[in-house]
Amino acid sequence: MYTVFRCEKPIVIVHGGAGRWNVDEETRVRVLEVLKNAAKSGLEAILRGGNAVEAVVSSVKVLESSGLFNAGIGSVLNLFGEVEMDAGIMDGKTLRAGGVAAVTRPKHPIELARIVMEKTDHVLLVGRGADRLVDLFGLEPRPPIPQRVLEKYRELVRNIDSVRYWRKLRELLRVVAPMVSDTVGAVALDMDGNVAAAASTGGVWLKLPGRVGDSPIPGAGFYADNRGGGASATGLGETIVMTSLTRFAVELMIQGKSAREACIEAITELTRRFGPDTAGIVAIDVRGEIASVHNTEYMPFAYACRDRVEAAFSGIRIR
Ligand code: ASP
Repeated sequence: MYTVFRCEKPIVIVHGGAGRWNVDEETRVRVLEVLKNAAKSGLEAILRGGNAVEAVVSSVKVLESSGLFNAGIGSVLNLFGEVEMDAGIMDGKTLRAGGVAAVTRPKHPIELARIVMEKTDHVLLVGRGADRLVDLFGLEPRPPIPQRVLEKYRELVRNIDSVRYWRKLRELLRVVAPMVSDTVGAVALDMDGNVAAAASTGGVWLKLPGRVGDSPIPGAGFYADNRGGGASATGLGETIVMTSLTRFAVELMIQGKSAREACIEAITELTRRFGPDTAGIVAIDVRGEIASVHNTEYMPFAYACRDRVEAAFSGIRIR
């Protein structure tokens, strides 16, 4: 188990979603490999002269392209069997943020979120309006839904009374924890001390059409502030939104707590309110401490800095 890590900046940390990760050994190896590649890609973006924002976009794009995670190509399906993706990004230098929710068209929702942040006056765009920007900005469209995802959807709708589940969020988790998983996120600290954070997801399996999770909402799925650090969250989005999880963690870092202390406190508080098997968070503080904390069985993650690239299937687990 990983406890404390510290690096000289630049640093990038990525995660592949809090959950049970009930997969075979071969898939585990691939997951860690893709996560390492994503962290490396973010670090290289910085070493080529980019900033923290460019780093998190680069990392998240690798994960969205892989088809292995619940983001971009591999996004899970809603109750009607449709893709509706959420993504968000924040620049800790300016506190500017951008998010898109329930989008269907881009291959890389994180690019769309960045466009909202950098090219519009808004913070959050949803559905049709956000999807229109895909053509306007010449973004790559999402390829067809992979066979693996379609098969899982058929299996889930056959076996699950989803309407009953949606009445109580915690029931959803108790009975079918695997329905929440594999979301992706990234946090970066660049050479100038700028922090950025990002998240991208297809949401939760069989969600009600139109449901928006934590991933496009600043302070929930991601938050960054150069005064303290940055954080990206994963898990049952509703619990993350209700606890303003990443804002909570970053606020603690601004007050002087380390990334590790802040993440433990944030996940402990969320666990106290909503129970275990609900969420996870990765973070970097401005002093270069990296943390990965979750109350789920697993949360694969990887981090990259100049002298190392490491990955593991879990960080610090809170029970
Ligand atoms: N947080 C995501 C959501 O609720 C799901 C996940 O992290 O797996 O949309």
